[in-house]
Amino acid sequence: MLPARVSLTVPGPVQELCATLHRAGYQAYIVGGAVRDAILGRDVQDWDVTTDCLPDEVATLFSKVIATGAKYGTVTVIIQGLAIEVTTMRQDGTYRDHRRPEEVIFSRDIRQDLARRDFTINAIAYSPLTREVIDPYKGIRDLRRKRLRTVGDPHRRFAEDGLRIMRLFRFASTLGFAPTRATLKAVQAPLLQPISRERIAAELAKLLLGSNLRSTLRSMYRYGVLEEIIPELLEGEGIGQGAMHRYDVLGHNLETAACIEPKLHLRLAALLHDVAKPRCMSTDAKGIHFYGHDVEGAALAGEILRRLRFDNKTINKVTHLIRWHMFNLHGFSSDRAIRRLISKVGQDNIHDLLLLRKADIAASATDMHQGLQAWLQLRNRVEEALAMQSAFGLRDLAIDGRDVMQLVGIRPGPQVGRILEQLLNAVLAEPSLNNREDLSRLALGLAQQAESAESVK
Ligand code: ATP
Ligand code: MG
Repeated sequence: MLPARVSLTVPGPVQELCATLHRAGYQAYIVGGAVRDAILGRDVQDWDVTTDCLPDEVATLFSKVIATGAKYGTVTVIIQGLAIEVTTMRQDGTYRDHRRPEEVIFSRDIRQDLARRDFTINAIAYSPLTREVIDPYKGIRDLRRKRLRTVGDPHRRFAEDGLRIMRLFRFASTLGFAPTRATLKAVQAPLLQPISRERIAAELAKLLLGSNLRSTLRSMYRYGVLEEIIPELLEGEGIGQGAMHRYDVLGHNLETAACIEPKLHLRLAALLHDVAKPRCMSTDAKGIHFYGHDVEGAALAGEILRRLRFDNKTINKVTHLIRWHMFNLHGFSSDRAIRRLISKVGQDNIHDLLLLRKADIAASATDMHQGLQAWLQLRNRVEEALAMQSAFGLRDLAIDGRDVMQLVGIRPGPQVGRILEQLLNAVLAEPSLNNREDLSRLALGLAQQAESAESVK
Protein backbone atom coordinates (compact mmCIF):
# COMPACT_ATOMS: atom_id res chain seq x y z
CA MET A 1 0.00 0.00 0.00
CA LEU A 2 1.05 3.56 -0.53
CA PRO A 3 1.88 5.78 2.39
CA ALA A 4 -0.92 8.23 3.10
CA ARG A 5 1.68 10.60 4.48
CA VAL A 6 4.98 11.38 2.87
CA SER A 7 7.60 13.97 3.48
CA LEU A 8 8.46 16.17 0.53
CA THR A 9 10.96 19.01 0.61
CA VAL A 10 8.98 22.21 0.31
CA PRO A 11 10.59 25.68 0.24
CA GLY A 12 10.00 27.95 3.25
CA PRO A 13 7.82 30.51 1.43
CA VAL A 14 5.44 27.80 0.16
CA GLN A 15 5.21 26.34 3.66
CA GLU A 16 4.52 29.83 5.02
CA LEU A 17 1.82 30.49 2.44
CA CYS A 18 -0.01 27.28 3.30
CA ALA A 19 0.28 28.00 7.04
CA THR A 20 -1.19 31.50 6.59
CA LEU A 21 -4.16 30.10 4.64
CA HIS A 22 -4.68 27.46 7.33
CA ARG A 23 -4.62 30.02 10.14
CA ALA A 24 -7.30 31.96 8.28
CA GLY A 25 -9.44 28.82 8.25
CA TYR A 26 -8.81 27.61 4.70
CA GLN A 27 -7.47 24.43 3.17
CA ALA A 28 -4.16 24.58 1.29
CA TYR A 29 -2.54 21.92 -0.86
CA ILE A 30 0.39 21.82 -3.21
CA VAL A 31 -0.82 20.38 -6.52
CA GLY A 32 0.14 19.64 -10.11
CA GLY A 33 3.66 19.54 -11.47
CA ALA A 34 5.23 20.48 -8.13
CA VAL A 35 3.95 17.37 -6.35
CA ARG A 36 4.75 15.20 -9.37
CA ASP A 37 8.31 16.46 -9.71
CA ALA A 38 9.00 16.48 -5.95
CA ILE A 39 7.95 12.82 -5.68
CA LEU A 40 10.12 11.99 -8.70
CA GLY A 41 13.04 13.82 -7.08
CA ARG A 42 13.25 16.25 -10.00
CA ASP A 43 13.79 19.99 -9.70
CA VAL A 44 10.48 21.73 -9.12
CA GLN A 45 10.05 24.70 -11.47
CA ASP A 46 6.82 26.24 -10.21
CA TRP A 47 4.98 25.77 -6.96
CA ASP A 48 1.23 25.68 -7.39
CA VAL A 49 -1.05 25.80 -4.38
CA THR A 50 -4.79 25.20 -4.37
CA THR A 51 -7.14 26.47 -1.66
CA ASP A 52 -10.83 26.98 -0.95
CA CYS A 53 -10.11 30.65 -0.24
CA LEU A 54 -11.49 32.89 -3.01
CA PRO A 55 -9.02 35.02 -5.05
CA ASP A 56 -10.16 38.34 -3.57
CA GLU A 57 -9.74 36.95 -0.08
CA VAL A 58 -6.27 35.56 -0.89
CA ALA A 59 -5.31 39.09 -1.94
CA THR A 60 -6.11 40.41 1.54
CA LEU A 61 -4.02 37.78 3.32
CA PHE A 62 -0.68 38.58 1.65
CA SER A 63 1.16 41.80 0.99
CA LYS A 64 2.37 41.07 -2.54
CA VAL A 65 -0.30 39.63 -4.81
CA ILE A 66 -0.67 39.85 -8.58
CA ALA A 67 -4.07 39.10 -10.15
CA THR A 68 -2.71 36.86 -12.93
CA GLY A 69 -5.91 35.04 -13.82
CA ALA A 70 -8.38 36.04 -11.14
CA LYS A 71 -11.30 35.27 -13.46
CA TYR A 72 -10.29 31.61 -13.51
CA GLY A 73 -9.41 31.70 -9.85
CA THR A 74 -5.64 32.19 -10.00
CA VAL A 75 -3.52 34.82 -8.26
CA THR A 76 0.24 34.93 -7.84
CA VAL A 77 1.53 35.50 -4.33
CA ILE A 78 5.12 36.60 -3.90
CA ILE A 79 6.87 35.64 -0.68
CA GLN A 80 10.58 36.33 -0.24
CA GLY A 81 10.95 36.73 -3.97
CA LEU A 82 9.33 33.38 -4.77
CA ALA A 83 6.25 33.58 -7.03
CA ILE A 84 3.65 31.02 -6.00
CA GLU A 85 0.48 30.45 -8.03
CA VAL A 86 -2.54 30.15 -5.81
CA THR A 87 -5.63 28.76 -7.49
CA THR A 88 -9.02 28.47 -5.89
CA MET A 89 -10.30 24.90 -5.98
CA ARG A 90 -12.81 24.47 -8.71
CA GLN A 91 -14.91 22.13 -10.62
CA ASP A 92 -14.96 22.71 -14.34
CA GLY A 93 -18.28 23.44 -15.98
CA THR A 94 -19.21 22.35 -19.48
CA TYR A 95 -16.72 22.92 -22.27
CA ARG A 96 -17.80 25.21 -25.05
CA ASP A 97 -15.01 25.48 -27.57
CA HIS A 98 -12.80 22.51 -26.67
CA ARG A 99 -10.52 24.94 -24.92
CA ARG A 100 -11.90 26.77 -21.94
CA PRO A 101 -14.57 25.61 -19.58
CA GLU A 102 -17.68 27.70 -20.06
CA GLU A 103 -17.88 28.72 -16.47
CA VAL A 104 -15.76 28.32 -13.40
CA ILE A 105 -17.49 26.82 -10.42
CA PHE A 106 -15.44 27.21 -7.25
CA SER A 107 -15.36 24.28 -4.90
CA ARG A 108 -14.42 23.40 -1.32
CA ASP A 109 -13.64 19.81 -2.17
CA ILE A 110 -10.06 19.00 -3.14
CA ARG A 111 -11.26 15.80 -4.82
CA GLN A 112 -13.44 17.78 -7.20
CA ASP A 113 -10.47 19.97 -8.04
CA LEU A 114 -8.29 16.93 -8.72
CA ALA A 115 -11.00 15.43 -10.95
CA ARG A 116 -10.66 18.23 -13.52
CA ARG A 117 -6.90 17.76 -13.90
CA ASP A 118 -5.41 16.11 -16.98
CA PHE A 119 -3.32 13.11 -15.97
CA THR A 120 -3.28 10.99 -12.84
CA ILE A 121 0.34 11.98 -12.13
CA ASN A 122 -0.77 15.64 -12.13
CA ALA A 123 -3.79 14.98 -9.92
CA ILE A 124 -2.05 14.43 -6.59
CA ALA A 125 -2.44 16.94 -3.74
CA TYR A 126 -0.03 17.31 -0.83
CA SER A 127 -0.42 19.26 2.37
CA PRO A 128 2.97 20.45 3.63
CA LEU A 129 1.38 21.07 7.05
CA THR A 130 -0.19 17.67 7.72
CA ARG A 131 2.00 15.81 5.19
CA GLU A 132 -1.19 14.22 3.92
CA VAL A 133 -1.31 12.97 0.33
CA ILE A 134 -4.57 12.94 -1.57
CA ASP A 135 -4.30 10.67 -4.55
CA PRO A 136 -7.74 9.47 -5.66
CA TYR A 137 -6.60 8.39 -9.14
CA LYS A 138 -3.54 6.38 -8.09
CA GLY A 139 -1.15 8.93 -9.51
CA ILE A 140 1.68 7.74 -7.26
CA ARG A 141 1.31 4.22 -8.61
CA ASP A 142 1.50 5.62 -12.15
CA LEU A 143 4.58 7.65 -11.21
CA ARG A 144 6.19 4.41 -10.04
CA ARG A 145 5.16 2.54 -13.15
CA LYS A 146 6.10 5.45 -15.37
CA ARG A 147 2.64 5.56 -16.90
CA LEU A 148 0.59 8.36 -18.39
CA ARG A 149 -3.12 7.97 -17.91
CA THR A 150 -5.88 10.57 -18.09
CA VAL A 151 -8.08 11.23 -15.11
CA GLY A 152 -11.26 9.53 -16.27
CA ASP A 153 -12.24 8.57 -19.81
CA PRO A 154 -9.47 9.64 -22.20
CA HIS A 155 -11.84 10.25 -25.13
CA ARG A 156 -13.90 12.65 -23.10
CA ARG A 157 -10.88 14.38 -21.54
CA PHE A 158 -9.15 14.96 -24.90
CA ALA A 159 -12.41 16.10 -26.51
CA GLU A 160 -12.85 18.64 -23.68
CA ASP A 161 -9.44 20.13 -24.29
CA GLY A 162 -7.24 19.09 -27.22
CA LEU A 163 -4.16 20.69 -25.68
CA ARG A 164 -4.06 17.68 -23.36
CA ILE A 165 -2.89 15.64 -26.36
CA MET A 166 0.17 17.86 -26.67
CA ARG A 167 0.68 17.65 -22.91
CA LEU A 168 0.53 13.87 -23.14
CA PHE A 169 3.42 13.84 -25.62
CA ARG A 170 5.24 16.50 -23.64
CA PHE A 171 5.25 14.36 -20.50
CA ALA A 172 6.10 11.24 -22.52
CA SER A 173 9.17 13.03 -23.86
CA THR A 174 10.36 14.87 -20.75
CA LEU A 175 9.59 12.19 -18.15
CA GLY A 176 10.17 9.16 -20.36
CA PHE A 177 6.76 7.80 -19.35
CA ALA A 178 4.59 5.60 -21.56
CA PRO A 179 0.95 6.46 -22.19
CA THR A 180 -1.38 3.57 -21.44
CA ARG A 181 -2.94 1.88 -24.47
CA ALA A 182 -6.36 3.34 -23.78
CA THR A 183 -4.94 6.85 -23.41
CA LEU A 184 -2.98 6.62 -26.63
CA LYS A 185 -5.89 5.14 -28.53
CA ALA A 186 -7.99 8.16 -27.64
CA VAL A 187 -5.57 10.57 -29.34
CA GLN A 188 -7.30 12.25 -32.27
CA ALA A 189 -5.17 14.84 -34.00
CA PRO A 190 -8.08 17.02 -35.29
CA LEU A 191 -8.86 17.87 -31.67
CA LEU A 192 -5.80 20.13 -31.84
CA GLN A 193 -7.36 22.32 -34.51
CA PRO A 194 -9.19 24.74 -32.21
CA ILE A 195 -6.12 25.15 -29.99
CA SER A 196 -4.06 28.31 -30.42
CA ARG A 197 -0.69 27.97 -32.18
CA GLU A 198 1.08 29.61 -29.25
CA ARG A 199 -0.14 27.02 -26.78
CA ILE A 200 0.71 24.16 -29.13
CA ALA A 201 4.16 25.64 -29.73
CA ALA A 202 4.75 26.10 -26.00
CA GLU A 203 4.14 22.38 -25.44
CA LEU A 204 6.15 21.50 -28.56
CA ALA A 205 9.10 23.51 -27.25
CA LYS A 206 9.04 21.63 -23.93
CA LEU A 207 8.56 18.30 -25.68
CA LEU A 208 11.54 18.87 -27.96
CA LEU A 209 13.84 19.20 -24.96
CA GLY A 210 12.82 15.82 -23.57
CA SER A 211 15.21 12.91 -23.28
CA ASN A 212 12.68 10.55 -24.79
CA LEU A 213 12.25 12.50 -27.99
CA ARG A 214 12.86 9.67 -30.45
CA SER A 215 9.94 7.48 -29.46
CA THR A 216 7.74 10.50 -28.74
CA LEU A 217 8.15 11.91 -32.24
CA ARG A 218 7.47 8.50 -33.74
CA SER A 219 4.32 8.15 -31.76
CA MET A 220 3.22 11.69 -32.69
CA TYR A 221 3.73 10.67 -36.30
CA ARG A 222 1.80 7.45 -35.90
CA TYR A 223 -1.18 9.22 -34.34
CA GLY A 224 -1.31 12.03 -36.91
CA VAL A 225 -0.24 14.75 -34.47
CA LEU A 226 2.96 15.58 -36.32
CA GLU A 227 0.99 16.00 -39.53
CA GLU A 228 -1.45 18.28 -37.75
CA ILE A 229 1.23 20.66 -36.48
CA ILE A 230 4.02 20.41 -39.11
CA PRO A 231 2.47 18.83 -42.21
CA GLU A 232 5.53 19.82 -44.29
CA LEU A 233 7.57 17.12 -42.53
CA LEU A 234 5.24 14.44 -43.87
CA GLU A 235 6.29 15.29 -47.43
CA GLY A 236 9.47 13.33 -46.64
CA GLU A 237 7.52 10.14 -45.94
CA GLY A 238 8.84 7.29 -48.08
CA ILE A 239 11.43 9.45 -49.84
CA GLY A 240 14.65 7.47 -49.86
CA GLN A 241 18.04 9.10 -50.14
CA GLY A 242 20.29 6.51 -51.68
CA ALA A 243 22.60 3.93 -50.16
CA MET A 244 24.25 6.33 -47.69
CA HIS A 245 21.09 6.73 -45.63
CA ARG A 246 19.27 4.48 -43.22
CA TYR A 247 16.03 6.45 -43.15
CA ASP A 248 13.61 8.18 -45.47
CA VAL A 249 13.69 11.99 -45.32
CA LEU A 250 11.00 12.12 -42.64
CA GLY A 251 12.70 9.49 -40.46
CA HIS A 252 16.04 11.21 -40.92
CA ASN A 253 14.69 14.58 -39.76
CA LEU A 254 13.14 13.01 -36.67
CA GLU A 255 16.27 11.01 -35.90
CA THR A 256 18.54 14.04 -36.29
CA ALA A 257 16.38 15.94 -33.78
CA ALA A 258 16.71 13.05 -31.34
CA CYS A 259 20.50 12.93 -31.81
CA ILE A 260 21.29 16.59 -31.13
CA GLU A 261 21.86 18.30 -27.78
CA PRO A 262 18.66 19.35 -25.99
CA LYS A 263 18.65 23.07 -26.76
CA LEU A 264 15.53 24.45 -28.44
CA HIS A 265 17.17 26.11 -31.46
CA LEU A 266 19.33 23.04 -32.11
CA ARG A 267 16.44 20.60 -31.85
CA LEU A 268 14.29 22.73 -34.14
CA ALA A 269 17.11 23.13 -36.66
CA ALA A 270 17.72 19.38 -36.65
CA LEU A 271 14.01 18.57 -36.97
CA LEU A 272 13.60 20.88 -39.95
CA HIS A 273 17.04 20.81 -41.58
CA ASP A 274 15.97 18.65 -44.54
CA VAL A 275 12.31 19.67 -44.58
CA ALA A 276 12.58 21.08 -48.12
CA LYS A 277 14.31 18.02 -49.60
CA PRO A 278 11.13 16.56 -51.11
CA ARG A 279 10.38 19.89 -52.84
CA CYS A 280 13.93 20.08 -54.25
CA MET A 281 14.21 16.49 -55.40
CA SER A 282 15.49 15.62 -58.88
CA THR A 283 17.01 12.51 -60.43
CA ASP A 284 19.53 11.94 -63.20
CA ALA A 285 21.94 9.21 -64.30
CA LYS A 286 23.99 9.76 -61.14
CA GLY A 287 21.03 9.25 -58.85
CA ILE A 288 18.85 11.36 -56.62
CA HIS A 289 19.61 15.03 -55.82
CA PHE A 290 18.18 17.70 -53.55
CA TYR A 291 19.83 20.82 -54.97
CA GLY A 292 19.01 24.00 -53.12
CA HIS A 293 17.28 22.32 -50.18
CA ASP A 294 19.42 24.36 -47.77
CA VAL A 295 18.21 27.73 -49.07
CA GLU A 296 14.67 26.48 -49.65
CA GLY A 297 14.73 24.70 -46.28
CA ALA A 298 15.72 27.86 -44.41
CA ALA A 299 12.78 29.69 -46.01
CA LEU A 300 10.33 26.87 -45.33
CA ALA A 301 11.51 26.44 -41.73
CA GLY A 302 11.04 30.19 -41.24
CA GLU A 303 7.48 29.88 -42.51
CA ILE A 304 6.71 26.95 -40.22
CA LEU A 305 8.20 28.59 -37.14
CA ARG A 306 6.46 31.89 -37.77
CA ARG A 307 3.18 30.04 -38.17
CA LEU A 308 3.82 28.41 -34.79
CA ARG A 309 4.61 31.88 -33.36
CA PHE A 310 8.14 31.12 -32.23
CA ASP A 311 10.14 34.20 -31.29
CA ASN A 312 12.30 35.93 -33.90
CA LYS A 313 15.57 35.17 -32.17
CA THR A 314 14.89 31.44 -32.25
CA ILE A 315 13.63 31.61 -35.85
CA ASN A 316 16.75 33.47 -36.99
CA LYS A 317 19.12 31.04 -35.34
CA VAL A 318 17.31 28.02 -36.73
CA THR A 319 17.04 29.30 -40.29
CA HIS A 320 20.68 30.41 -40.29
CA LEU A 321 21.82 26.92 -39.30
CA ILE A 322 19.61 25.29 -41.92
CA ARG A 323 20.85 27.71 -44.57
CA TRP A 324 24.48 26.69 -44.01
CA HIS A 325 24.13 23.03 -43.04
CA MET A 326 25.36 21.75 -46.39
CA PHE A 327 28.95 23.05 -46.12
CA ASN A 328 31.39 20.74 -47.82
CA LEU A 329 34.54 20.60 -45.68
CA HIS A 330 36.55 17.86 -44.03
CA GLY A 331 39.62 17.42 -41.88
CA PHE A 332 41.92 17.98 -44.87
CA SER A 333 40.35 21.17 -46.21
CA SER A 334 42.65 24.19 -46.52
CA ASP A 335 43.04 26.60 -43.61
CA ARG A 336 41.57 29.25 -45.80
CA ALA A 337 38.43 27.22 -46.54
CA ILE A 338 37.94 26.55 -42.82
CA ARG A 339 38.35 30.25 -41.98
CA ARG A 340 35.93 31.19 -44.75
CA LEU A 341 33.27 28.92 -43.31
CA ILE A 342 33.73 30.42 -39.84
CA SER A 343 33.51 33.89 -41.34
CA LYS A 344 30.39 33.03 -43.32
CA VAL A 345 28.39 31.49 -40.48
CA GLY A 346 29.90 33.61 -37.72
CA GLN A 347 32.02 32.60 -34.75
CA ASP A 348 28.90 32.51 -32.56
CA ASN A 349 27.23 29.88 -34.73
CA ILE A 350 30.05 27.65 -35.87
CA HIS A 351 29.83 25.30 -32.88
CA ASP A 352 26.08 24.91 -33.36
CA LEU A 353 26.63 24.20 -37.04
CA LEU A 354 29.16 21.50 -36.17
CA LEU A 355 26.70 19.96 -33.70
CA LEU A 356 24.05 19.92 -36.42
CA ARG A 357 26.50 18.18 -38.75
CA LYS A 358 27.38 15.62 -36.09
CA ALA A 359 23.71 14.79 -35.47
CA ASP A 360 23.13 14.69 -39.24
CA ILE A 361 25.90 12.08 -39.57
CA ALA A 362 24.69 10.05 -36.59
CA ALA A 363 21.19 9.99 -38.11
CA SER A 364 22.14 9.00 -41.63
CA ALA A 365 25.50 7.44 -42.39
CA THR A 366 25.41 3.72 -42.72
CA ASP A 367 29.02 3.79 -41.58
CA MET A 368 28.50 6.08 -38.64
CA HIS A 369 31.84 5.36 -37.01
CA GLN A 370 33.82 6.56 -39.99
CA GLY A 371 31.57 9.57 -40.37
CA LEU A 372 32.07 10.59 -36.76
CA GLN A 373 35.85 10.16 -37.02
CA ALA A 374 35.89 12.54 -39.96
CA TRP A 375 33.68 14.95 -38.03
CA LEU A 376 36.13 14.95 -35.11
CA GLN A 377 38.98 15.86 -37.44
CA LEU A 378 36.96 18.70 -38.89
CA ARG A 379 36.01 19.95 -35.45
CA ASN A 380 39.68 19.97 -34.41
CA ARG A 381 40.57 22.00 -37.47
CA VAL A 382 37.84 24.52 -36.65
CA GLU A 383 39.09 24.76 -33.05
CA GLU A 384 42.63 25.38 -34.32
CA ALA A 385 41.43 28.10 -36.64
CA LEU A 386 39.46 29.76 -33.84
CA ALA A 387 42.44 29.54 -31.48
CA MET A 388 44.56 31.53 -33.95
CA GLN A 389 42.29 34.50 -33.21
CA SER A 390 42.60 35.81 -36.71
CA ALA A 391 39.94 38.03 -38.24
CA PHE A 392 36.62 36.38 -39.13
CA GLY A 393 34.56 39.50 -39.61
CA LEU A 394 34.93 43.11 -40.75
CA ARG A 395 35.02 44.20 -37.14
CA ASP A 396 38.16 42.13 -36.49
CA LEU A 397 40.19 43.87 -39.21
CA ALA A 398 43.16 46.00 -38.16
CA ILE A 399 41.73 48.98 -40.06
CA ASP A 400 38.13 50.16 -40.28
CA GLY A 401 35.92 52.08 -42.70
CA ARG A 402 37.10 55.45 -41.45
CA ASP A 403 40.73 54.46 -42.05
CA VAL A 404 39.86 53.32 -45.57
CA MET A 405 38.10 56.62 -46.37
CA GLN A 406 41.03 58.67 -45.10
CA LEU A 407 43.69 56.60 -46.84
CA VAL A 408 41.95 56.44 -50.19
CA GLY A 409 40.34 59.86 -49.99
CA ILE A 410 36.75 58.74 -50.57
CA ARG A 411 33.42 59.59 -48.97
CA PRO A 412 31.14 57.14 -47.18
CA GLY A 413 29.45 54.85 -49.69
CA PRO A 414 29.32 51.32 -51.06
CA GLN A 415 32.95 51.42 -52.19
CA VAL A 416 34.14 51.50 -48.57
CA GLY A 417 32.22 48.32 -47.85
CA ARG A 418 33.55 46.65 -51.00
CA ILE A 419 37.15 47.43 -50.06
CA LEU A 420 36.65 46.15 -46.50
CA GLU A 421 35.13 42.90 -47.85
CA GLN A 422 38.12 42.41 -50.11
CA LEU A 423 40.50 43.07 -47.21
CA LEU A 424 38.67 40.47 -45.14
CA ASN A 425 38.98 37.98 -48.01
CA ALA A 426 42.70 38.62 -48.15
CA VAL A 427 43.04 38.14 -44.39
CA LEU A 428 41.00 34.91 -44.47
CA ALA A 429 43.50 33.60 -47.02
CA GLU A 430 46.53 34.97 -45.15
CA PRO A 431 45.92 35.99 -41.52
CA SER A 432 49.39 37.58 -41.15
CA LEU A 433 48.12 40.43 -43.37
CA ASN A 434 45.88 41.66 -40.56
CA ASN A 435 48.02 44.65 -39.53
CA ARG A 436 47.65 48.35 -40.31
CA GLU A 437 50.60 48.54 -42.64
CA ASP A 438 49.69 45.63 -44.92
CA LEU A 439 45.99 46.44 -44.97
CA SER A 440 46.63 50.13 -45.77
CA ARG A 441 48.83 49.14 -48.66
CA LEU A 442 46.23 46.65 -49.89
CA ALA A 443 43.42 49.18 -49.56
CA LEU A 444 45.30 51.71 -51.68
CA GLY A 445 46.02 49.05 -54.31
CA LEU A 446 42.36 48.00 -54.40
CA ALA A 447 41.20 51.60 -54.78
CA GLN A 448 43.60 52.17 -57.65
CA GLN A 449 42.44 48.98 -59.35
CA ALA A 450 38.84 50.09 -59.02
CA GLU A 451 39.70 53.51 -60.47
CA SER A 452 41.49 52.13 -63.50
CA ALA A 453 38.63 49.69 -64.09
CA GLU A 454 36.27 52.72 -64.02
CA SER A 455 38.39 54.65 -66.53
CA VAL A 456 38.54 51.71 -68.97
CA LYS A 457 34.70 51.74 -68.98
P1 ATP B 1 5.24 22.22 -15.60
O1 ATP B 1 4.86 23.36 -14.71
O2 ATP B 1 6.41 21.43 -15.17
O3 ATP B 1 5.29 22.63 -17.03
P2 ATP B 1 2.67 21.23 -14.83
O4 ATP B 1 2.07 19.85 -14.79
O5 ATP B 1 2.78 21.93 -13.52
O6 ATP B 1 4.06 21.12 -15.55
P3 ATP B 1 1.10 23.47 -15.62
O7 ATP B 1 0.73 23.93 -16.98
O8 ATP B 1 1.87 24.33 -14.71
O9 ATP B 1 1.82 22.07 -15.82
O10 ATP B 1 -0.29 23.07 -14.94
C1 ATP B 1 -0.41 22.82 -13.55
C2 ATP B 1 -1.42 21.71 -13.31
O11 ATP B 1 -2.70 22.11 -13.81
C3 ATP B 1 -1.12 20.40 -14.04
O12 ATP B 1 -0.23 19.58 -13.31
C4 ATP B 1 -2.50 19.80 -14.13
O13 ATP B 1 -2.90 19.23 -12.92
C5 ATP B 1 -3.36 21.01 -14.40
N1 ATP B 1 -3.51 21.28 -15.84
C6 ATP B 1 -2.75 22.07 -16.61
N2 ATP B 1 -3.18 22.11 -17.88
C7 ATP B 1 -4.28 21.33 -17.89
C8 ATP B 1 -5.22 20.98 -18.91
N3 ATP B 1 -5.09 21.43 -20.15
N4 ATP B 1 -6.24 20.17 -18.56
C9 ATP B 1 -6.38 19.72 -17.29
N5 ATP B 1 -5.55 20.01 -16.30
C10 ATP B 1 -4.50 20.80 -16.59
MG1 MG C 1 3.47 23.96 -13.24
